[in-house]
Order: sequence, then structure tokens, then C-alpha cells
Amino acid sequence: MAKRISVIVSQGQSSNPSKRRLEEEIIAGLMFEPGFDVTVTPHLYDLKADSTGMLAFKGISGDMIVCSWMFERAAHWILDRNHISGHVGTTLLVNEDDEEEDDEEEELDEVEKQRVIEHRDIPNRHIYCFDLKTTNRSQDYIDEAKRILAELSVDVVSLGLGGPKVEPSTNQRFETPTNSTSLARDGSGLEPAPNGVQTTEEAGGEDGNITRIEERAPRRWYPVIDYSRCTNCLECIDFCLFGVYGVDRIDTILVEQPDNCRKGCPACSRVCPENAIIFPQHKTPVIAGSAEMGTSLKIDLSQLFGAPDKGRSAVEVAADERDQQLAMAGRDIVGMQGLDKRQPNHKRNRQRDALDQLVDQLDQLDL
Ligand code: SF4
Ligand code: SF4
Repeated sequence: MAKRISVIVSQGQSSNPSKRRLEEEIIAGLMFEPGFDVTVTPHLYDLKADSTGMLAFKGISGDMIVCSWMFERAAHWILDRNHISGHVGTTLLVNEDDEEEDDEEEELDEVEKQRVIEHRDIPNRHIYCFDLKTTNRSQDYIDEAKRILAELSVDVVSLGLGGPKVEPSTNQRFETPTNSTSLARDGSGLEPAPNGVQTTEEAGGEDGNITRIEERAPRRWYPVIDYSRCTNCLECIDFCLFGVYGVDRIDTILVEQPDNCRKGCPACSRVCPENAIIFPQHKTPVIAGSAEMGTSLKIDLSQLFGAPDKGRSAVEVAADERDQQLAMAGRDIVGMQGLDKRQPNHKRNRQRDALDQLVDQLDQLDL
């Protein structure tokens, strides 16, 4: 039997017709290609841990492809926070905002730091995240999915594992519930679950199929930690005054109360010295999870135009943003208290000179 792979299409938050069209073209394109089991869910970022959509992700034990309207890095670490882990699968579809910069100085810096990921076991599988903002041509995503499937099939055969590993299809998992939260089926192909969730089954090519999970998933706003960058310095837990962060049993930082986060505010991502905190829906690529480290001219410019106060350090902006949220919550503001002393070598502060020069140059251009 040939190798199969699960593809999850995480729909955009809005019902923007061009986004929906691209999603549907990809689904339709994969539907009649051999080897794909497709599941459609609401936006991955909005799914709660016990939602049916998230259970669909959790039900996939092998390699998977995730298509979402987020940078690859954001999607990967949202999955990780929900205990859906795997190695980052390399995709040839790269959003130009997502290309890593060659920065020797940064790389030298990186070598000596211990990252949280180094102390974690990662399951032996790959998760390939496609950023649907990369191209509006559905065929590009379909071709890339086929390339990955072909590559995985070759790997399995060349490793001599006695035949390809076959994952149960997504639908099979629903048909054979393994826990009380799985969806029951009555054979009609469309059944409202007790919480109002609906699944729709569609036949695809060969023995592949499509499962659509429709459930209410109101928009959320919370930080996502990239543990491949996080050094567990705990700056974020000290900075956030809304109880969002916590630590696990071995004192590793985690996002404990995501929904305590203040909607629209990205303050702690500016404070993290490693650029490890992602707000996937923020308009500035470096905050939304682009792969860049925030040192390039491109990023300086985006920060310049994205930050509320041009030319100020990221930590100063973060302190203001935090004060705004404290005031809106009816609490006392705290300003830069503690921050100025604690982060003298903050990466974003080290950029201050370069940023100032840019401001001067732009001022001279009289834009
Ligand atoms: S501030 Fe950044 S690097 Fe430090 S613990 Fe928080 S996420 Fe990790
Ligand atoms: S954005 Fe503000 S409220 Fe949300 S986690 Fe960061 S510091 Fe806390």
C-alpha cells in the first residue's frame, strides 16, 4: 500500500472570499490526488485545547501537512503548545517575509545559549506548515504536498522498513472513537455533536477522503512561545502583569492562562531578548512569527512603521503598551520600573543607534 499523509487546512478567521477560494481550490485539488486525507478546521490559533478541531490534529500520529494563514513558525509552535510535536518539515514554499537572514554577529551570539528545545524529546515525525500567504496559486501548495509525499515514500522504502508506514485516515479515527470526546457517527455523513459541532464527509480520490469540522471558534489573542529560541530567562513572566505566563514542574516557562492576555497588545514580544514570543495575528512580521531575528534593515523599517512611537526602543514601547493595558483594566501604571536596569543588553536596545540613524535619514527625506 502506498504512503499516505494527512493534510489539515486551517481556515482563515474572516470569510474573506479570496481566502476561502484558495482554501477550497487546495482542498478540491488534493481531493482526487492519491495519498492524501484532508481535514478542514476553523483557524488553528482560535481552537481551544479540547475543541473537536484540535482533537483532529491530536488524532494524527504520523507526518502531517498544515495549511494556515500564519507564518510557518507560528503554526508549528501553536501545535507544540497543544502537545502536537514533531520535527519541522522543510518546505520549498517560503514566504518572502519568512526568509532567514545571514547575520554572522547574531549566529555567534546564538551558539552559546541553551535553548529550551534542547531538553525536550521530539517525536519521530515531521510537521510541514504551509503559510497560505505565500502565494495565491493553489497549484503551488498542491505540488508541494505531492513533492513531500513522494519524498516521504522514497525515505520509507530506502530505509528498508519492510513497506511504507500507513497512518489511519482521519476519518477512520472518527469512525472508531478512542475516547468519549470523539465524534459519534450515524452513517449519514453529517451529524451534529452535542456541542453543536458538525462534521461533513466527502469522498475523495482512491481511498482518500475529506472531513470538514465546523464548530464555533471565536477569535483569540495570546502569546505563543518558540522553544527553539527561548532560553527560559523568565523576563516575560516578570514583565506580564496579567498572569498569562507560568512555569511547569521543572520551572520552564509556559503560557498558562492564554485568555488573560490583553487583546491586540504585543508588549511582551518586544521585551523577549530572543524574539521567542509570537503573536500570530500581529501586523508586524517579526512579531507575527516570521523567521527573521529582527536585525535586518527590512525588520528595522517594519518596526519603525509598526511601532506606536517611532525611534523609541522596543522596551520603552512595550512599557507604554503595558501601561495602556493596565490603565484600561483600571489598575495603576508602572512605566519602566525594573525594565531599564534588567535589560541593559537587550537586543532591541542594542539596535537603537542603527534605528536612530534610520529615523534621521527618513527625516532628511522629508517623507
Ligand atoms: S522572555 Fe523570551 S526567552 Fe525569556 S523566558 Fe520568556 S519567551 Fe523565553
Ligand atoms: S501582551 Fe501583555 S497581557 Fe499579553 S502576555 Fe504579553 S504582557 Fe501579558
